[in-house]
Amino acid sequence: MHRLLLRQLQRHLGKDFVPEGGWPQFLGAVSDHYEVSDQERVLLGNALHVNSDELTAANQRLRAQSEQEHAQLRGVIDSIPDLIYFKTPEGIYLGCNQAFERYAGLPESSIVGNTALSLFDSATALKGRSRDTEMLAGGKAMVSEEWVTYPDGGNICLEVLRTPYFNSGGSVIGLIGIGRNITERKRLEEERRLAALVYQHTAEGMLVTDADYHIIAMNPACARITGYELEEVFGRSPSIFNSGRQDRTFYETMWAAINKAGYWSGEMWDRRKNGEIYAKSITINQLLGDDGSLHGYVVLFSDITEKKQSEELIWRQANFDMLTGLPNRRMFRDRLEQEIKKERRAGLSLALLFIDLDHFKEINDTLGHQLGDELLIEVGRRIGKCTRDSDTVARLGGDEFTVILTQLIDSKHVEGIAQEIINRMAEPFVLGEDVVYVSASIGITLYPEDATEVEQLLQNADQAMYAAKNMGRNRYSYFTYTLQIAAQGRVRLIHDLRGALAAGQFRVYFQPIVELSTGCIHKAEALIRWEHPERGMIGPSEFIPLAEETGLIIEIGDWVFREATRWLMRWNDLITDEFQISVNASPVQFRADGNIPQDTWSDHLTRLGIPGNRVVIEITEGLLLDADPDVVNRLLRFRDSGIQVAIDDFGTGYSSLAYLKKFDIDYLKIDQSFVRMLGTENNDRALCEAIIVMAHKLGLRVIAEGVETEQERDWLIAAGCDSMQGFLISKPVPPEQFELLLQK
Ligand code: C2E
Ligand code: MG
Ligand code: MG
Repeated sequence: MHRLLLRQLQRHLGKDFVPEGGWPQFLGAVSDHYEVSDQERVLLGNALHVNSDELTAANQRLRAQSEQEHAQLRGVIDSIPDLIYFKTPEGIYLGCNQAFERYAGLPESSIVGNTALSLFDSATALKGRSRDTEMLAGGKAMVSEEWVTYPDGGNICLEVLRTPYFNSGGSVIGLIGIGRNITERKRLEEERRLAALVYQHTAEGMLVTDADYHIIAMNPACARITGYELEEVFGRSPSIFNSGRQDRTFYETMWAAINKAGYWSGEMWDRRKNGEIYAKSITINQLLGDDGSLHGYVVLFSDITEKKQSEELIWRQANFDMLTGLPNRRMFRDRLEQEIKKERRAGLSLALLFIDLDHFKEINDTLGHQLGDELLIEVGRRIGKCTRDSDTVARLGGDEFTVILTQLIDSKHVEGIAQEIINRMAEPFVLGEDVVYVSASIGITLYPEDATEVEQLLQNADQAMYAAKNMGRNRYSYFTYTLQIAAQGRVRLIHDLRGALAAGQFRVYFQPIVELSTGCIHKAEALIRWEHPERGMIGPSEFIPLAEETGLIIEIGDWVFREATRWLMRWNDLITDEFQISVNASPVQFRADGNIPQDTWSDHLTRLGIPGNRVVIEITEGLLLDADPDVVNRLLRFRDSGIQVAIDDFGTGYSSLAYLKKFDIDYLKIDQSFVRMLGTENNDRALCEAIIVMAHKLGLRVIAEGVETEQERDWLIAAGCDSMQGFLISKPVPPEQFELLLQK
């Protein structure tokens, strides 16, 4: 029954009106006709000042119901996980739920009646307050996001809904706040935002395809690297990027891995839109749904072309000779090992060629290193032209080259190539304005005939090459068993050489040098001999190179010098004051560092009371070309003490007149190979004559070596040569015998 109706009824009937049968009966009658709730019943009863049991009961029922409703409401709001509070417009808390209690860290009873300022830190309180005011001023609900801190220090993000709280008359009597924890949502949003940011801005290309591997998305980096825009490739397969550098098997293996493991990563070459081929490092991941079904693929890649290029450069530097571009020693060894394996499987042979240029050092010294380098480049090129693509040409360093000839069917082929290389080398090298001639010595060894191991093959080829040099250079030589024996013999000889000096096995022989104008012996050359206990007399040509190699030459040379001067002292009475002894000195003796005996040679002479000019040191032309200041200084020190200097074997090396002058040389000894030609070839006669004239112009005296016939002697006299030495007069003889010659 409507409340207004009851009021009207009351007003209409007047205050003192009492219905017939009393009010309770009336109320009962009204209740019979209308549905009257307990609340209406109580209202009506109160309005009409009715006291009745029924009314009291209704009243009690109503109160119980209200309490129950309140408890219910309380239960409801406490069950809500959101934070809920009510406030007066002035900000005094009227109530809150348990979620809010937890946030405030206080029971509701301590919250109600307080403002936020007394519950929270001032910043939080003031910020909340200003939002409350803003919302109340606007008169409608407002939502904001706020980070709050719980008493345990936990931080969460709330989405706070503030809404006005109206009374039944419709006016605002407070506000309600509801805060919902959106921390997780925020985190996901942030994650997504970051992911999008990364996707947009990363340097790594990202590509998404559907389950059929059709492109559906790509990031800007992907567009930049590939050169394609999404519109151009949308719906197409990423295989449009293929460069063709990977074969089918490559992709098959890749897909097998993706299908098995769900991802694959590796490197591949792709092609940009502009056709350029580039290297990429790439990862392909399957994109699976929660149910495990395939949604698509995510492809991540980066351009590693530059990295590849620098790796390649490093690799090239490690494996190739920078000057000629040929494989270097390291790469050569690798190839040789590979080739040996291949030939072993195929049952074929291979040949290893060691090529060494003849007298390259002299050429290099005369031409200068730059032209020397150009020469080496050209040599490499020429060797390359003599071989097939499947063969390997490498530079081992200096003027040493090597060739691996593979899949040999017969060894004639090897000889052909070796001869071809020699022929090619014989062609003039035009380097700028210079025309240079070189020759090469080649050593050849065969796999598996000569050896099956890399190390042994290398040794063989090296020995064969030295054999070619010893046979007169500009030729090839096969490795032979004899060579191997010779090499072993060499090792033994070196061993014996070490003990020879202490064992007193060396002898000094003397060969007279005769003045052509008088026919008198006016000099003698000291020449060493080795009386080997088992092998008998060994000539210097055989052991001096070994002594040089091992450095033993320094002690041996010193011994020869002392021995020669000892005899010179003894013969002092027999001979003229001008008599000279000539001693050979190896370049190694000059290059030796430290306190070498040579430096005391002049002291030694002083001690013996022999004037410096009674001794001549014979050096070779090569030594003068050596720009090493130590060598120059040693030479000049000899000169200072009056010791004279002769150039031995003149004409076989690369002498320069400028050097002869610069070092103030005293004698030229024309090599016996020229003298030998005197009778036969006109050219050599002219050359000999030219040497003699030139030497005289420079103030040098000339000694002809190896004079064996009277004809040679006569011709030398005619050409104006100063002295001669040779078997025509005498072979080198022991000192006692030489003494007899002198006495004659
Ligand atoms: P070299 O200094 O040019 O000595 C001349 C060589 O020619 C000697 O050979 C000599 O026996 C040889 N000879 C002389 N006259 C004739 C001739 O008419 N016909 C022929 N066919 N040969 C002749 P040898 O004694 O065997 O010495 C060879 C080389 O060993 C020397 O050439 C020299 O370079 C070196 N040598 C010798 N003794 C020493 C030494 O004490 N120290 C150093 N560092 N080297 C030495
Ligand atoms: Mg000599
Ligand atoms: Mg000589």
